[in-house]
Amino acid sequence: MRRILFAAILALLMAGAAAICNAQVDTKWKIHDPNRPLPAVIDPGTSSTQDSPGRPPSDAVVLFDGKDLSRWAHQDGSAPKWKVGNGYAEVVAKTGYIYTREAFGDCQLHVEFAEPVPPTGESQERGNSGVFLMGLYEIQVLDSYENKTYADGQAAAVYGQYPPLVNASRPPGQWQTYDIVFHGPRFDKEGKLTRPARVTVLHNGVLVQDNVELSGPTANGQRPPYAAHPEKLPLGLQDHGNPVRYRNIWIRELK
Ligand code: MG
Repeated sequence: MRRILFAAILALLMAGAAAICNAQVDTKWKIHDPNRPLPAVIDPGTSSTQDSPGRPPSDAVVLFDGKDLSRWAHQDGSAPKWKVGNGYAEVVAKTGYIYTREAFGDCQLHVEFAEPVPPTGESQERGNSGVFLMGLYEIQVLDSYENKTYADGQAAAVYGQYPPLVNASRPPGQWQTYDIVFHGPRFDKEGKLTRPARVTVLHNGVLVQDNVELSGPTANGQRPPYAAHPEKLPLGLQDHGNPVRYRNIWIRELK
């Protein structure tokens, strides 16, 4: 009886673990199997400094290298009207969001941003922009350095859903980094949600979102449910009317 109970508990635990993990040990390979294919060798690149952006990993798709926004477009497909300066792109108010011309789903994403100097506005009006994963799921960009706002709307929040674990913001004018690991949602043929989206975020190298499960698309003042969509959609950057700067944006698709 005890053994049956133990087996039942173990089965339950394993089912739970399978539900929260993205991968399991592949039993096709023996432990330390010499025939198991080796991972691809890549150049990991270099870290950024305040003075210069780092070099992306060799297998990344570079979305913005500080020179041109040719991989981006406004929603109507037109070329971005955002300003491209010396090594950065800057939001131009009322020109609209920009989206990658290519669609992406599960990914590792690196984004660098700098908040406007001098800081103007309060709360959500100070240095607001956003990284919109699949164009639907916002990681908030905001000047949260000595600028109080609601917790689930500050920098590195999953907007309206999860405040960051800590406020790791640098002062305006300094370059900041987001390193994001995102797994998009999945839907069955009938459009029913089979797996919610999950995201992990490091802000300036500090873990601020730990594999959190999204309740659906992010929105202002509401938490709308998921609506079925493709496994890949363009990545967006928000025009919220503030001249936030971006540089060194790259993405690695997760297969
Ligand atoms: Mg925003």
